[in-house]
Amino acid sequence: MLVPFPIPNHVLDHPLLEEKGLELVIKRLDLVHPEVSGNKFYKLKYNLAEAQKKGLDTLLTFGGAFSNHIYATAKAASSENLNAIGIIRGDKITPLNPTLQAAEESGMELHFISREAYRKKTEIHFIQDLREKFGDFYLIPEGGTNELAIKGTSQILDPEAKRQSHIAVSIGTGGTFSGLAKRISKDQFLMGFSSLKGNFIHVEIDQMLKKNDINPSGSYSIFDQYHFGGYGKYTQELIEFIWWFYEKFGIPLDPIYTGKLMFGIWDLIKKDYFKAGSKILAIHTGGLQGNRGFTKMTGIKLPPPSM
Ligand SMILES: *Cc1c(COP(=O)(O)O)cnc(C)c1O
Repeated sequence: MLVPFPIPNHVLDHPLLEEKGLELVIKRLDLVHPEVSGNKFYKLKYNLAEAQKKGLDTLLTFGGAFSNHIYATAKAASSENLNAIGIIRGDKITPLNPTLQAAEESGMELHFISREAYRKKTEIHFIQDLREKFGDFYLIPEGGTNELAIKGTSQILDPEAKRQSHIAVSIGTGGTFSGLAKRISKDQFLMGFSSLKGNFIHVEIDQMLKKNDINPSGSYSIFDQYHFGGYGKYTQELIEFIWWFYEKFGIPLDPIYTGKLMFGIWDLIKKDYFKAGSKILAIHTGGLQGNRGFTKMTGIKLPPPSM
């Protein structure tokens, strides 16, 4: 079983927060485990336990070339002595980027498939073909979101978090948001910041909550205006914000998820979105392994992970 390290809560100290009468705390899930970082720790935890319970010694999952989920699955599998197969979208580019290289070095078997084939990844026949090719395996969907992942992410908030009025988190597939939605109490407001462009996310989240029988006690809202052009897209302003945040608070962010989340929260603070007295808890979902690959690809330097 994956065991979490103690997770620090960092209370931010800044004149703007004082001026607006706000408390802003960062829950550092990026420090939950030296290898299986962030929300992926929680999403994988019960899936690995389930694979072991079923006596399956191989995990198979899907992802893009920079995927935090691929990286985390590779690391989690190796720490639990399981085999891992990663089906990667697109052509193999050598040398491998830091994400895929680390996954491979951890023992993950990488298979590259075309974007067209990748689109079939949830179809029964496609999965059957994979079973014929690789033998039996425990399947984890792209991004790692399933029922057991939501069970895991519903444990991110500890009882102490009840004192917070607002909980804020980044959204990719929404698995983490859904777990938090299951857990919030009736006077709490859950804010999801979508890292993808488009308003489809509102329907998708509603469907995910319904499918998993989640009726949040508190209220929630999804913010879809902080995507910076779409998934994996960025602007100079975002990069500058990430560096500003690191220099002010010593907390590294990534440009795909947590940078956009914190930019959004800070922007809303400036715009007086939060009433004085609000206690905001922002979940740092990790993702810092991707910073090296981002720098390699773009030449843009980013803060290093803290562990
Ligand atoms: C995967 C990931 C997310 C998105 O999580 P979902 O459960 O898919 O919404 C957010 N932040 C980071 C750093 C991630 O790696």
